[in-house]
Amino acid sequence: MAGITEKGAAGLRVCRKCLLADMKEEDFFRTLRSHIRNIDEDLKVDHTVYEKRLDQCRACDDLISGMCRICGCYVEMRAIMKKNACPRVHPKWQKENVCMNIY
Ligand code: SF4
Repeated sequence: MAGITEKGAAGLRVCRKCLLADMKEEDFFRTLRSHIRNIDEDLKVDHTVYEKRLDQCRACDDLISGMCRICGCYVEMRAIMKKNACPRVHPKWQKENVCMNIY
């Protein structure tokens, strides 16, 4: 069943009422990549760090179909954020120092 759609920031049709089961797989991954692109740059690691993190995930036995078996995250989503770290007891990549201004 189709959900409610609207134009997202990247001009893509974004479904606001669909479960994953209701979305076409290619639409889901396009939406995921669009979401990553639209995250505030201050919250994201730079490209070099991102690729190093993803290289660790690619070589990891806990990566299954783009998801981390330990945390259940899509690793491309988890690895882009400075505040995130690999969830292993002995992490394969670390969080970056993040300065959060809390007033
Ligand atoms: S986040 Fe860590 S545990 Fe998960 S797939 Fe990547 S390297 Fe492996």
